[in-house]
Amino acid sequence: LMAQALEELLVEKGVVTPDQLRRGLEEQSSRHPANGTRLVAKAWKDPAFDARVREDVNAAARELGLNPGDIPIRAVYDTDAEKNVIVCTLCSCYPTGLLGESPDWYKSRAYRSRVVREPRAVLQEFGTRVPEEVEIVVHDSTAELRYIVVPQRPAGTESLNEDQLVALLSRDCLIGTTLPQGT
Ligand code: FE
Repeated sequence: LMAQALEELLVEKGVVTPDQLRRGLEEQSSRHPANGTRLVAKAWKDPAFDARVREDVNAAARELGLNPGDIPIRAVYDTDAEKNVIVCTLCSCYPTGLLGESPDWYKSRAYRSRVVREPRAVLQEFGTRVPEEVEIVVHDSTAELRYIVVPQRPAGTESLNEDQLVALLSRDCLIGTTLPQGT
C-alpha cells in the first residue's frame, strides 16, 4: 500500500510519468541470472577478462553489454580452501543487475539469520556438502556493496566453449549456495 501511495504521489507531482515507471519495471524484470552466468563463464575462459572481473565487476559486465547498476559489485572467488556464499542480513541487498530478482528464500528471515550462524548446515540443505577442511566465508551485502560468487571451474571442462560452460552454471551457483554441475 505504501509503495502504491508513493507511486501515485510521484506521478501526481510530475516527478515521473506512468510510462517511465512502466519502462523501469520492464527493464528490471528483463534482467536474468543468465547475465551473471555469462560473466562467470567468460571469466573462466578468458584470463584477461577474469583479471578485469577481479578488479571491477561493474566495468567487466558493461563490456558484455550488461547493465550491472551503479552499486559496486565484488566478485568473491572460491578456492580449494574457501567456499563463498552471499547474504544480506539486514534486508535483501542482491546483485539484481546481474542476477535479476532475488529468490524468496534469499529474503527470508531463516536464510538471513541461519547462513551466518551455521553456513555448513544451510548449504547442506541446498544439497551442497562442503568438506570440513574448507572454510565457508559468508559475505554480507549492503546498500553500498554487493557480491557475486565465482565458483571453481569443474575439472575436465577445458575443451568446453563459453555456452557449454554457461550451461553448467545457475543463479544459485553465483549466490554460492550450490556448485556448478560436474563439480
Ligand atoms: Fe539489504
